[in-house]
Amino acid sequence: MSFIKNANFISADPEWKERAPKFKKSFSLSGKVNRAELQISALGVYLAYINGVRVGDFVLAPGWTEYEKRLQYQRYDVTELLSDENDITVGVGHGWYASNVGFSAKYPLGEYPMLIAALRVYYTDGRCETVYTDDSWLCAKSKVLSSTIYGGEVYDARIEEIFSENARICDADKGILIETEGEVVREIERISARSIIKTPEGDTVIDFGQNLTGYPELRLFGEGGERIVISCAEILDKYGNFYNENYRSARSEIDYTLASGENLYKPHYTFFGFRYLKIEGNAKFDASSITAVVVHSDINRTGYFKSGHAKLNKLFENIIWGQRGNFLDVPTDCPQRDERLGWTGDAQVFCRTAMLNYDCEKFFYKWIRDLAASQYPDGGVPRVVPNAILEDPNSSVEDWGRRHSAAWGDAATVCPYEYYMAYGNKDFLKSMLPTMKKWVGYIEKYAPGYIWSIGFHYGDWLALDRPEDCKGGTDHSLIATAFFYYSTTLTAKAARICGEDASYYEELLPKIKAAFREKFVVDGRMSCDTQTAAVVAIHHGLLTPSEEKTVGQRLIELIEERGDTLSTGFVGTPYLLDTLTKIGRIDKAYTLLLQEKFPSWFYSINCGATTIWEHWDGINENGDIWRASMNSFNHYAYGAVAAWLYRTVAGIKYDEEKPAYEHFTVEPRPIERLGSASAQVTSKFGKISSEWVYEADGRIRYTVEVPHGTSAKLIIDGISEELTSGRYTRYSK
Ligand code: BGC
Repeated sequence: MSFIKNANFISADPEWKERAPKFKKSFSLSGKVNRAELQISALGVYLAYINGVRVGDFVLAPGWTEYEKRLQYQRYDVTELLSDENDITVGVGHGWYASNVGFSAKYPLGEYPMLIAALRVYYTDGRCETVYTDDSWLCAKSKVLSSTIYGGEVYDARIEEIFSENARICDADKGILIETEGEVVREIERISARSIIKTPEGDTVIDFGQNLTGYPELRLFGEGGERIVISCAEILDKYGNFYNENYRSARSEIDYTLASGENLYKPHYTFFGFRYLKIEGNAKFDASSITAVVVHSDINRTGYFKSGHAKLNKLFENIIWGQRGNFLDVPTDCPQRDERLGWTGDAQVFCRTAMLNYDCEKFFYKWIRDLAASQYPDGGVPRVVPNAILEDPNSSVEDWGRRHSAAWGDAATVCPYEYYMAYGNKDFLKSMLPTMKKWVGYIEKYAPGYIWSIGFHYGDWLALDRPEDCKGGTDHSLIATAFFYYSTTLTAKAARICGEDASYYEELLPKIKAAFREKFVVDGRMSCDTQTAAVVAIHHGLLTPSEEKTVGQRLIELIEERGDTLSTGFVGTPYLLDTLTKIGRIDKAYTLLLQEKFPSWFYSINCGATTIWEHWDGINENGDIWRASMNSFNHYAYGAVAAWLYRTVAGIKYDEEKPAYEHFTVEPRPIERLGSASAQVTSKFGKISSEWVYEADGRIRYTVEVPHGTSAKLIIDGISEELTSGRYTRYSK
């Protein structure tokens, strides 16, 4: 039962501004307690304690949602924490709500954070009492002098926290409060320093050996007044010096002043992306004084992939780390610089892989609902969700104000559809249908003659075929029209699945296809001669069989002209290997996957990457850094290739007619160069696995597991057989 709405939002004196306040309420119990529950949230982020014991373990609670419409609250059973006399103390940081996230004037949404809480005690005699946040709560200036998402944290452990003032009641909308939908964000792992380095420039730097998201935890001893300043970096430059210009304006720093004695500290209201920490100041430390705490949404691992190729295994591991680093309540582009935003395009590209690697059912449930909540009345979908970038609904669609780009806004159809395929929740899909339809309706408005030609697009973001332009070399309206077709396909399918009339969308499809072919296919070739143009046209099924042949052949040439390398960006890359497989050239797909030279997935590994880079050329072959301005070393988008590892290399594919793997296909595609490969996917029904191994006698051994309640079609060398649950072994030449 929800009783939090009877409480009040409270704040400290707005004049405290940067200072993170603490709130406190003392209360006594008047009987024997049967059960007690705390419901709590903040416009900001909170850390709650009852009688000095932390309540729950949600880091950066209540999480980030489309705050203007939705604010999660958490419920905790606190029965065990209570005694006759009690103190509830809650520290509140600025969090996303009161930080300047999103590089526009929209955030901060408020200048200072606010708390709302209600603690209800149910006595054994049937009575119940509730303590609500109100102006009887006291507040103190805490030791946290400042803490924001991009700004790091400043902390003075010597400060005494004195609860002297009364809290103020604030007039904030309680109608937005919803029960937690997402996954709890937790401290997942602790990593010890791998080494302490003295750089050529003389800096002292700790290397944790892994690019990760979270924060450092300190255990230091001091007289009091010593200071330690810790800054974060993902890489060292080519000379081995500390480098974090790519964080742009994000001040990824902890500025900590010690109290006397033992100091145990970790940041309260912020997080960082880092592998290296630079240590400055006069506090004494050694490798054991600083530990890296990995923080992310506590999603369960469901997917595994392994092969006989060490670099491919490393690539897969980096993809997993990329997901861990960017699934902190919201699927973000990157965790380190002044973005850390729910970029829709990145999520659209990666969601299938994400849902194979981990159980993201709750995680995406929340985010997709935020996407729906942030959709504009005209169907436009903001580029980031929660929408942290100011848009002007009255500005032209060409303007900065309205960047509802193809492949970004299409998250509105792709994510719900993939979610349904992974988890089979039809009610959810049905609830998203209006959002999907509105998005297609939005595109239609800007697609005269069924060509989506009007409006701003990110194009094939970061493709290499026009290096001087981040938007790549593929015609934007070609990409956009292909996505118009794709989104319409998914909306038609979703309408059918939900038992609704799909005819409007089904009738739209041939019209888009005809217009696309008319405009973008010239004499059997794509009008725009790029890898991505060929990929989107083939992958989204926009060509006739004979066009597919010629365009496919041209795709092979384009790859070969670049010495068997890719040139695709955010739009083309996720479908590149699928497209090559579709046209019967899996050999080329493997060549690209296992390519060592620049540009390729393995190139970053050869440069020592432990996560997926934003740019193929984040670090150039001469060791120079591409640019400081937009160069993340932890961006999951190109990690979308993992879906191909599960679905093609190991061959485990959901069947659209029986989602959530109730029926699936296993069609492994072995290649001698790998020696072996195996993948595992944990579906709702249980573990699915597929393995192939080249044996010493040259035969290939396949092992497949089909869980109870499911069945599968196994295809080996084009011959298929139906399998019921069980474990099967097969051989082929
Ligand atoms: C982000 C991307 C995002 C893009 C939009 C970048 O700054 O980091 O991942 O999709 O902007 O094109």
